[in-house]
Amino acid sequence: MENQNISIEDMANFCKRKGFVYPSAEIYGGFSGFWDYGPLGVELKNNLKKFWWKFHVHNREDIVGVDGSIITNPKVWKASGHVDNFSDILVFCPKCKKTDKIDKHEIKKVKCDCEGEFDWEKSKEIKQMLETNVGLKGSAYLRPETAQSIFINFKSVYDNSRGKLPFGIAQIGKAFRNEIAPRDFLFRCREFEQMEIEYFVDPKEKFPYELGDNKISIFSEDMQKNNKETTEISFKEAFNKKILKTKWHAYWLEKEYLWFISLGANPENLRIRQHVSKEKSHYALDTWDIEYKFPFGWKEVHGMANRSNYDLNQHQKNSQKKLKVINLNNEKILPTVYEPSQGVERALLVFLFDAYTYDEKRKNIVLKLHPQLAPIKTAILPLVKNNSKIIKISKDIFNELKKDFNIVYDESGSIGRRYSRNDEIGTPFCVTIDEDSIKNKDVTIRNRDTTKQKRIKISELKNILTSLIKKEINFDKIK
Ligand SMILES: [Zn+2]
Repeated sequence: MENQNISIEDMANFCKRKGFVYPSAEIYGGFSGFWDYGPLGVELKNNLKKFWWKFHVHNREDIVGVDGSIITNPKVWKASGHVDNFSDILVFCPKCKKTDKIDKHEIKKVKCDCEGEFDWEKSKEIKQMLETNVGLKGSAYLRPETAQSIFINFKSVYDNSRGKLPFGIAQIGKAFRNEIAPRDFLFRCREFEQMEIEYFVDPKEKFPYELGDNKISIFSEDMQKNNKETTEISFKEAFNKKILKTKWHAYWLEKEYLWFISLGANPENLRIRQHVSKEKSHYALDTWDIEYKFPFGWKEVHGMANRSNYDLNQHQKNSQKKLKVINLNNEKILPTVYEPSQGVERALLVFLFDAYTYDEKRKNIVLKLHPQLAPIKTAILPLVKNNSKIIKISKDIFNELKKDFNIVYDESGSIGRRYSRNDEIGTPFCVTIDEDSIKNKDVTIRNRDTTKQKRIKISELKNILTSLIKKEINFDKIK
């Protein structure tokens, strides 16, 4: 895949121009950290969520879904530790004049990167949870993560699903954080969407899967501290060499890596990096991120924490309700939790950056999205406007295909213009109808990525498109 090196600002402009994403309330000057999705953006985002759900929930027997409320009893956030711990401390270094963000437990313990002492008098706490009012009772919080609605419902969901460990609960939903400095387009927002799994295991039980041989570039805490280079290593080997401490951690990192690849991410732009001790969240035992090589550097696109049984334990203590479940040895335990946590917006950026290509020959952008992600699957393009027979066939095809796919009908402008319009928004296949279509009952189908064309029977069009979108057949193999 070509590396196009467009900046994040260029991407934001492209997304706005084409109707993927707009700054929220742009007519009022926008609102920092908030974004609105346009006609193509909402389709892309829905497709992304659908295929995340399919991969993690429908294709597995051990994971079920929930959809929790955004605002819940504030006691949840007290128990989870967010009320007391989820804040940033803004610090100022008089030596290099830099403002920095540190963790609460680092107050008076850390120095600036320049070795200067922070001016602790000037440090300021910024709460990361957004507050709101509910009824007459006063304040509540907009959830800063979807995870807690999984933990508080864990026992009910587990019992309803006749669960046995290992067992996972998945959720897709909005979360809110009062980011001090939202930036980099969709990368750091105040309102965002998470696709999360809390995966509950009994650490004493035998690991039921095999780790695979997929290789990824890896950056451990040790490598970071000792200024070593990243290395390419398989997930299995990383476990065997004790870089990844548990098989479950290795397993889920590999799964999530494969999820990115399955929807078209370029493996060369992905790596895994371990959190160094000062980055770790208050609940995490060990955390690894999947990072993507953005134009502004390697950044987290997926977080994978080992949360131990911290959350269930906290909720059991604070709610006084029994949350233990029975393991294979008939013991009551609080399971250990692995948390594959995926931001929708960050995944969108990964797929957009890897898809964005400027084609020198065509002199237009070609958005090479995986067909499953593409907002519009097909454009129906009659070649001759004033031939009623051609228009009739085209409309019939459109009306038939739209039952199964999100497609467009377009008869305005030259065929070249119509192709490039569709290339730019990622439409993987265009279908043209011409005079030969009348007597031969066939159409031309064009591949976005190669511009190659094939003649196929109208009666076979739907089946062929279905297979092409699922990547079950190769375009070049179509007869
Ligand atoms: Zn400094």
